[in-house]
Amino acid sequence: MFTASPDLIAIAQAQLLLAVQTLGLLSAVLYLAQTTPEGKSQWVELVSYPQGKAVLPPDRDAQLAKERIIIPLVYEEGILGLLVSEKEKGWTATEQEQMETIARTLALACALDQRCQWLLQQQKQEQDLLANLLHQLKNPVTAIRTFAQLLVKRLLPNDPNHSLAKGIVRETVHLQELLGEVKQTPLLAPQAVSHFLPPAAINLLEFLQPLVHAFANRAYSKGLDFITHLPATEVSVKAHPTALREALSNILDNAIKYTPPGGTVTLAVTPTDHHCQIKVQDTGIGIPAQDLPHIFQRHFRSHNVDGQIEGSGLGLAIAKQLLEQMGGTIEISSTEGEGTTVTIQLLAQAAPTGDKTDGSQNAPATNPQYT
Ligand code: ATP
Ligand code: MG
Repeated sequence: MFTASPDLIAIAQAQLLLAVQTLGLLSAVLYLAQTTPEGKSQWVELVSYPQGKAVLPPDRDAQLAKERIIIPLVYEEGILGLLVSEKEKGWTATEQEQMETIARTLALACALDQRCQWLLQQQKQEQDLLANLLHQLKNPVTAIRTFAQLLVKRLLPNDPNHSLAKGIVRETVHLQELLGEVKQTPLLAPQAVSHFLPPAAINLLEFLQPLVHAFANRAYSKGLDFITHLPATEVSVKAHPTALREALSNILDNAIKYTPPGGTVTLAVTPTDHHCQIKVQDTGIGIPAQDLPHIFQRHFRSHNVDGQIEGSGLGLAIAKQLLEQMGGTIEISSTEGEGTTVTIQLLAQAAPTGDKTDGSQNAPATNPQYT
């Protein structure tokens, strides 16, 4: 439904006032054509003069009909509105022509207003998409930086590859700085991630391997323990790999980011009959109880992190949206000062074959120090 901007209202008021004053009209009203959310067409009064004294709807009051003229606001063969004006005495041809000129001006103003609003809406959607894409770049860039830093540590300073590895670290730091700058622009607004394909069956354990590898390295680099509880046999879930990777990366990124050195991050996968549960638990700073209801809102950051730990407040909102698009759910529970647990439920592709926690591995993830 089109909502007239204050500029359009101001133009319409000025035009009607001019017509009333110069032609001595009794009244003038501008109606706009609107479509309700239910798809019905209707005329909505935008501006009337004198204010509050609305002219009777155009299809009523036959008695006055000869004193009233109704001019449609036409633009590119569409009718955008109606200009209804009343005069005590009859209309001369010149007066009618003047009203038609005003109607043409108003039609043009309406069309430009609609176009402007459509463009603004498009722009907002594009900005949202860009914000989401930039957010998605963050985790892989951080992972490359961690890997490159480990490489620098392992290579002896006289190794010819040492300076190359340092170059990779330097450039990823640069990229992170650039992404940080982009995040600070006020362009980002709530909207959808639209690059989505239908979910397919994926082997969860195989899928998780590289993710665990990357995040375990990040956790160790920060002085955290990273523990996994994974079932011993294959788990098949309905998911879109790119979207699931993004959602889990955002959750693991939070677990590491909001847990001070010495803490633990645990990733546990538990298949049930029709679902598969993935839990990411940390022993970090937690989320204040009053902030929990807002935690999935775009740009929301809880009070205990704001200004202290870097972030844009987009990760969880994107994760929720992506998971819900593939039929999954996400919940978060937390105690300030103790830690946070994020629980994801995905649809199982087929009923698992009985391997649950009994057969599970309970082990620290691969430690880069020893591989
Ligand atoms: P980014 O967009 O870079 O991910 P962010 O981490 O601030 O920024 P979200 O991931 O959406 O944004 O998280 C929103 C807020 O929820 C965080 O700012 C933080 O206050 C809180 N939060 C999320 N996960 C945790 C966690 N594991 N421990 C403590 N607080 C958390
Ligand atoms: Mg985050």
